[in-house]
Amino acid sequence: MNVDIAIVGGGPVGASLARALATAGLSLALVEPKTPRPLPAAGFDQRVYALNGHSRRFLERCGIWQGLSLERIAPVREMRVFGDDASKIEFSAYRSGVAELATIVEEANLRQALQSALKAQLNLSLFSGVECVGAQWGDRGVALSLSDGRRIDARLVVAADGPDSALRNAAGITARVHEYAHTGVVANFRTERAHRDTAYQWFLHSGVLALLPLPGNHVSMVWSAADADARELLGASDEELAQRVAQASSGLFGKLQPVSPTAGFPLRRMRASRLIAPRLALIGDTAHNVHPLAGQGLNLGFGDVQALADVLAARGMEKDVGAVSLLRRFERSRGEDLLVMEAVTDGLKALFESNLPGVERLRNAGLRLANRISPLKRLLVKRALG
Ligand SMILES: Cc1cc2nc3c(=O)[nH]c(=O)nc-3n(C[C@H](O)[C@H](O)[C@H](O)COP(=O)(O)OP(=O)(O)OC[C@H]3O[C@@H](n4cnc5c(N)ncnc54)[C@H](O)[C@@H]3O)c2cc1C
Repeated sequence: MNVDIAIVGGGPVGASLARALATAGLSLALVEPKTPRPLPAAGFDQRVYALNGHSRRFLERCGIWQGLSLERIAPVREMRVFGDDASKIEFSAYRSGVAELATIVEEANLRQALQSALKAQLNLSLFSGVECVGAQWGDRGVALSLSDGRRIDARLVVAADGPDSALRNAAGITARVHEYAHTGVVANFRTERAHRDTAYQWFLHSGVLALLPLPGNHVSMVWSAADADARELLGASDEELAQRVAQASSGLFGKLQPVSPTAGFPLRRMRASRLIAPRLALIGDTAHNVHPLAGQGLNLGFGDVQALADVLAARGMEKDVGAVSLLRRFERSRGEDLLVMEAVTDGLKALFESNLPGVERLRNAGLRLANRISPLKRLLVKRALG
């Protein structure tokens, strides 16, 4: 089959690119081996995303937001971040003049909405349940081999096949990887006390604990802990885990009761040396991984999608969607966002992990100070909201 653009990887980033190009006047193919998990009938999906305003508006424009089960999403209207003494910084949607700071969406909810939007898309051929197993680069296009023996010829290939991207490696793009030796432990809980649409985060000696609001009296946990501690959390009984989380969160929610299995995700920072190669663009986790403490990985990925879709929409007289000039424009447009996010998440993590004398006092004083300086807070909110 011949197409203008083949997208390899139908995770939230690859699938949303297909949707963003629905009216671009281009033929598309999307290759994805997995079928989306069904929404759990009881409890919530283990994986949830905090999506910022930029991502929400993007998903609305693409008609994806409207397909979400809206009763399963939760707004974040307040946020409280605690240092390892009593220091804290607070953010409020009301005081920032916005309806909400972020929206919490389950991964299964997002993937279901994407799938139903894509099924009806006329310019798209879906290759579901198959993998891309090879790529051959030519001057005029790329030939992709699929695991079921089929082949796709594309003028441009977009790699959205995740952090261990085989396509990125096949194109010879190297990646700078730093393993944090931390694992993101996720689980959802029913709480005794209401969360009042507030997200909480604690920078602890043992890592970073976040409790995000879910509908009703439920919260979603992401506890980024050193691997050994994470193994303990993952091996703990429901009761032990609930107790440890309640203790680390100063009993803020009263008694906790797990409503989903616990899962762990190894954490690392990764940045591909280039976002482009001849007839290839990298987007999402294929191009960059950041620490989840700022909840920005997918938001960054949606930023890549919008940038690439914008460049392709504004291609003017350029007939070849794989032209170097277009790819360069895409790469240039992402430089600043990626650099800033990597520096912020990494800097915060290093600052709160350090046991050096003075650093501990400095970081907590920094939190208190930032909490009192309104313009700085507004700037932080603006950056996080997108
Ligand atoms: C604990 C944790 C919490 C997080 N919380 C947040 C948050 O609150 N907010 C936020 O913005 N981000 C968050 N993130 C980051 C977010 O999870 C990722 O940025 C996001 O999932 C990246 O999506 P993606 O589509 O780029 O990649 P993926 O979701 O990895 O999708 C890649 C897809 O490619 C497919 N694939 C792989 N190989 C092939 C192949 N050979 N052929 C075809 N397809 C292939 C896979 O099946 C998969 O579906 C979090 C991450 C972690 C670990």
